[in-house]
Amino acid sequence: TESYGAAFVVRWMEAAAGAVEREAGRLTELDSAIGDADHGANLRRGFAAVAEELAKEPPGTPGAVLVTAGRLLISTVGGASGPLYGTLLRRAGKELGEAGEVTRDGLARALAAGVAAVGQLGGAAPGDKTMLDALTPAVAALPESFAAARAAADAGAAATVPLRARKGRAGYLGERSVGHQDPGATSSALLFAALEEVAAG
Ligand code: ADP
Ligand code: MG
Ligand code: MG
Repeated sequence: TESYGAAFVVRWMEAAAGAVEREAGRLTELDSAIGDADHGANLRRGFAAVAEELAKEPPGTPGAVLVTAGRLLISTVGGASGPLYGTLLRRAGKELGEAGEVTRDGLARALAAGVAAVGQLGGAAPGDKTMLDALTPAVAALPESFAAARAAADAGAAATVPLRARKGRAGYLGERSVGHQDPGATSSALLFAALEEVAAG
């Protein structure tokens, strides 16, 4: 089985920053329908800070890259998504420990721990119309392949459209949140698209 080092995880974070930059307008548009129209700007600021720091001083292990990225998201993103994505990556990074390389299975296990931490922090579960609706199936599919994880994230994000939001700002809208795709589930799908892209080389 193939294994992946720190440089791979840096490339993932850079690809995520690029995707968030390109899709910021769409993320903000989705957030304007059921939130406060800042999700694109929030993540753009956060991932730009991540990419800048990783370019300056790339950490030596996959775990340390994720911990650094998570810490920066927490410190630079004002919205709910910053601490949540920050927790996802930091927790996953801690799970990887000091290892110099990680397999796809190992990454899946670490991200599963991160997803569980997001659930604990935000008190949400799949079906509540949040990022967890994309993250949970994506991480479950990751042992199969990077492409399967991306496809599961896309399907999970699309499946938030008919849901009624129970958490975050959209939760206050109740019934009026139905019919719109969740911004955070959409950005989660971008993260897994970036991962697939980087894995494909
Ligand atoms: P804010 O709502 O503070 O403006 P963002 O717009 O950046 O923050 O992020 C909104 C996204 O965060 C939502 O679309 C949703 O996916 C996610 N989110 C909000 N609250 C929670 C929560 N409690 N648990 C999981 N995800 C959440
Ligand atoms: Mg918002
Ligand atoms: Mg906000």
